Amino acid sequence: MSTEPIKVAEIFGENVFNDTVMQERLPKKIYKNLKKTIEEGKELDLETADVIAHEMKEWAIEKGATHYTHWFLPLTGVTAEKHDSFISAPQPSGKVLMSFSGKELIKGEPDASSFPSGGLRATFEARGYTMWDCTSPAFVRQDAAGAILCIPTAFCSYTGEALDQKTPLLRSMEAINGQALRLLKLFGNTTSRKVTPSVGAEQEYFLVDADKFLQRKDLIYTGRTLFGAMPPKGQEMDDHYFGTIRQRIASFMKDVNEELWKVGVTAKTQHNEVAPAQHELAPIYAEANIAVDHNQIIMQTLKRVACQHGMKCLLHEKPFKGVNGSGKHNNWSLTTDDGINMLDPGKTPHENIQFLLVLTCILKAVNRHADLLRESAADPGNDHRLGANEAPPAIISVFLGEQLEDVIEQLISTGEATHSLKGGHLETNVRTLPEFTKDATDRNRTSPFAFTGNKFEFRMVGSRDSVAEANIVLNTIVAEAFAEACEVLEKAEDFQKAVHDLIKEYAIENQRIIFNGDGYSQAWVEEAKRRGLPNIRSMVEAIPALVSDKAVGLFEKFGVFTKAELESRAEISYENYSKAINIEARTMIDMARKQFLPAIIKYTKTLADTVNAVKQAGADANVQEETLSEITVLLKDARAALMELEKVTAEVSEMPDGQEKAQQYYHVVHPAMDALRDPVDQLEMIVDKEAWPMPSYGDLIFEV
Ligand code: ADP
Ligand code: MG
Repeated sequence: MSTEPIKVAEIFGENVFNDTVMQERLPKKIYKNLKKTIEEGKELDLETADVIAHEMKEWAIEKGATHYTHWFLPLTGVTAEKHDSFISAPQPSGKVLMSFSGKELIKGEPDASSFPSGGLRATFEARGYTMWDCTSPAFVRQDAAGAILCIPTAFCSYTGEALDQKTPLLRSMEAINGQALRLLKLFGNTTSRKVTPSVGAEQEYFLVDADKFLQRKDLIYTGRTLFGAMPPKGQEMDDHYFGTIRQRIASFMKDVNEELWKVGVTAKTQHNEVAPAQHELAPIYAEANIAVDHNQIIMQTLKRVACQHGMKCLLHEKPFKGVNGSGKHNNWSLTTDDGINMLDPGKTPHENIQFLLVLTCILKAVNRHADLLRESAADPGNDHRLGANEAPPAIISVFLGEQLEDVIEQLISTGEATHSLKGGHLETNVRTLPEFTKDATDRNRTSPFAFTGNKFEFRMVGSRDSVAEANIVLNTIVAEAFAEACEVLEKAEDFQKAVHDLIKEYAIENQRIIFNGDGYSQAWVEEAKRRGLPNIRSMVEAIPALVSDKAVGLFEKFGVFTKAELESRAEISYENYSKAINIEARTMIDMARKQFLPAIIKYTKTLADTVNAVKQAGADANVQEETLSEITVLLKDARAALMELEKVTAEVSEMPDGQEKAQQYYHVVHPAMDALRDPVDQLEMIVDKEAWPMPSYGDLIFEV
């Protein structure tokens, strides 16, 4: 183990083609052009691109890079990359030159037909393009493959349909930028030129020993355990959360941080999480598209470094039944280029009114599009967390904290329309605002969407999922609410009065979405039902929200998704769900057939032999016999459940792809999986540990 101190300030960003490097290496004019593109979205001409490409290549080669890759986020959920080396055709001398053109930098052509396109491929060409997202800096990644220049890109079809997460994310950032500036202008802001969503994504993960991992086909094929009885001790003692980090884990974290810092990821916070073997890493927030890329880099780095330490990093939302799963908290706020956080309550009444409008617009957006936000966090693994008695519930609500909720309540009850303006009720209400301090509100860990001082924390996203979708939805639904507010306010004769009226109207109309209580309780489920809030318990039930008329209208209005793109996304989601459950079911079948049943059958023979031997010795073999019959009963149950699972999996997998198939996986195959797991888990508690064919939960989570 290396005890070399890490010189953070020196290594931070050393492998990033960042602003300092660009300023140093690019001719002034070229640098200026590129900055224009980055800051104002101006198109990049090929001449400029050629110079940048050349300098980027020279820089990367100095860092040891041999290849470059267009790094992108297709709809498979994991980043994709194809490596091309810098070498060009040999010269007459037999030597090769290292080359990299502007064209190669700004555009790549992976074969789109190998990535999910959900019908877009049938309608349009198979060809796809990756395009440089110059707002997210290129970096050199060092791993076993050597050093590779990674160029963050967006991925589109030949006709421009988005085949990835980045494209709609960038579109949604443009939408919120436009509408937020419009709103700021109404409040007299003439200095801000750009508004960017800021995102900080906290990442939870599990670490297990690699040797044990490799003995479990369920972990290998599906990333989670499909069988496994709870050990005598789980997380009930709360002794892991924020506990001392064990040395093996600490040395892993040290390497992770170092790797992340080198590529410019601001790894900031690390700690043990609630469940044994569970940990968390949080970076400092960044612009949404960078934060999304960085989160992908974090996930890749966790996995890679874990392997180097003889461990495996589990990013699945629910690797172990009975202990907490993992999520990703998406912290979101809106920041102007001159440093104003629009979600900061501020100090003066003037700022407060703007803040209250922003806040009530967000309430309106979340209330109206709760179904879309819920959908943005849907993935097969998250079905085990959301609405399954674990944080957070599948019902979207907003936590404001006592002070803000009080302000909203006052607005609703005393802000009697015109009267209040003259009478100064709102003024009074507003004057209560400067009391806000960042810690004035308590925490509520059970809320899916919580105001935490100067940002919202969306806590539903799955640990394995990209945070892109959640932010696409957030940006767009808030852009819509801003646009609607601006339409009213731009026409208003008395602006102050109009703002007050609007804030009050939004507060009244959307109060059902505010909930400060215990989101885990059954009482909330019933209360939410009374309020008419959607309770969407599963991924298959969440997907239709993507293609509702409401969603199509919203996304088309802001140019974030076309109807065809939304339909393709829904189709891909159904397919992804079906595939995931199919793999899980088949893995269970495989494990039961080839590992559990044979091991248990063998064990019953040992037991039977023992019964005979004990009897022959003239002793009482009652206990042995009873154990044998107990096992035999469960063995029978397990076999029957296995046959049933085989049958339904075969039937459902024959169905044509689409919504119905996914529903069958959820309603038919999933319960059949549970039915098989149950007797096997019971058997694990009775059968001799020596006879059990794989490491138990105890081995996996307490002995890392
Ligand atoms: P909390 O304790 O409220 O969860 P932390 O300070 O630990 O807050 O931050 C959690 C995450 O939120 C970090 O990634 C952090 O960088 C991010 N964050 C902090 N402020 C903001 C903000 N204004 N907008 C977006 N993310 C933020
Ligand atoms: Mg947090």
